[in-house]
Amino acid sequence: MTHPAQPKASHFINGEYVEDTAGTPIPVIYAATGEQIATVHAATPAIVEQALSTAKAAQKAWAKMSGTERGRILRRAADIMRERNHDLSVLETYDTGKPLQETLVADATSGADALEYFGGLAASLTGEHIPLGEDWVYTKREALGLCVGIGAWNYPTQIACWKGAPALACGNAMVFKPSETTPLCALKVAEILIDAGAPAGVFNVVQGMGEVGGALVTDPRVDKVSLTGSVPTGKKVYAAAAEGMKHVTMELGGKSPLIIFDDADIDNAVGGAINGNFYSSGQVCSNGTRVFVQKGIKEKFLARLAERTGNAILGDPMDEATSFGPMVTENQMNIVLGYIEKGKEEGARLICGGRRADMDGYFIEPTVFADVTDDMTIAREEIFGPVMSVLDFDTEEEVVARANDTEFGLSAGVFTKDFTRAHRVIGNLEAGSCFINSYNDAPVEAPFGGVKASGVGRENSKEAIKHFSQVKSVYVRMGDVEAAF
Ligand code: NDP
Repeated sequence: MTHPAQPKASHFINGEYVEDTAGTPIPVIYAATGEQIATVHAATPAIVEQALSTAKAAQKAWAKMSGTERGRILRRAADIMRERNHDLSVLETYDTGKPLQETLVADATSGADALEYFGGLAASLTGEHIPLGEDWVYTKREALGLCVGIGAWNYPTQIACWKGAPALACGNAMVFKPSETTPLCALKVAEILIDAGAPAGVFNVVQGMGEVGGALVTDPRVDKVSLTGSVPTGKKVYAAAAEGMKHVTMELGGKSPLIIFDDADIDNAVGGAINGNFYSSGQVCSNGTRVFVQKGIKEKFLARLAERTGNAILGDPMDEATSFGPMVTENQMNIVLGYIEKGKEEGARLICGGRRADMDGYFIEPTVFADVTDDMTIAREEIFGPVMSVLDFDTEEEVVARANDTEFGLSAGVFTKDFTRAHRVIGNLEAGSCFINSYNDAPVEAPFGGVKASGVGRENSKEAIKHFSQVKSVYVRMGDVEAAF
């Protein structure tokens, strides 16, 4: 019998599901059991061509609709997404392995927030009038045209919406390629947009590995590429986009610092560290994986952290009591287990976890290392799994310098009751998305993105509009034209 997660076909182009079985089969594995639940096929060159030409053709009429009309469709899509939240959350859990306890409140819901927010902004995209005596200039905010979205595997619904919603609000069309690891959820986003009244072809989904992404990025018809992925992939995609002078948004990896001063509320700080390391089993780009704890509270912090981490419930992700799921794939699990071994070898002190859980699926116990030093591999490289490194520090000046000593700059957090210090420290940290006495909140109203190797551009908020539109300026002469001859 066909599994309920099996989509009707691999791709969604021009308002309908499309199949081409000549493409390489991509098995969809449920991470909690290792069982294959669906198969999709990578896009063939014919499918890529169909998606791009369809989107290109659909974009012009979409951009000509008023912002109010486009916004109404996006807001309707948000409503449909919320109505279908339960089924979408189950599918998200099959796609990623993340527990239903999370997916019910974090995935289709945040996708719907993006559709609603950018739907609301669509009608407000205006230019300015610049008086020049008799003459004047007016500006128009116009769509870029055909945008490509390429997603990572940790938030397949949210990533499709975080890219699709602002792109469509501005009058662009999009071809979206999900990660081959999680191909299911973006198809539902495309289906919902059609159900909400979006014209066929403005949001299309094609499956495939990096080579399909590469074909999309290098196509001369494409005006913009928005990628969520790792730094190495980001460098390749950015370079390929530069070749065609295309706009880019790069949401890449991180190794973010979370700094806890000794005056912090310990339970809140522990809560922040748990949210910033173990949500989605640590598969979150903005995670605060370098937890710097001021020496005076170190042992108290570690004791409370170990106690609360022990309360994680590993188990069937479809059981709403389960609070901690598996790694997305066997490969990712092995990468993370490799880092854990490195941590042990290089002399970090294991506080809890540290091994594969004794159960089916790709579960790793939530793991905390203490006495981590700046030069250890686990303190330098992005792990993308449930591995928290706790480092000690003495002074503010010292911790800020050490926190910034990384190629990454996605996020940063500080816990302290001293507000002057909190703002000063955040001001000195090299990071794009920061938190004070909290960690990993990502409301659609707030800009999200990194500095340094962690990325270019911002998603969400009014900032995203700037990255999916461009300004045309028009000089209007009211009198005669003077010329030299
Ligand atoms: P990857 O960089 O491996 O892949 C990202 C996407 O790019 C995938 O869809 C991938 O396809 C595609 N891709 C790979 N090579 C190319 C290429 N040459 N041209 C075009 N597309 C290509 O990242 P992961 O999927 O492994 O995701 C994990 C990474 O994503 C982590 O580093 C994490 O930090 C980052 N991330 C960043 C976020 C942010 O907002 N800053 C949020 C979430 C994750 P395929 O994998 O199918 O081959």
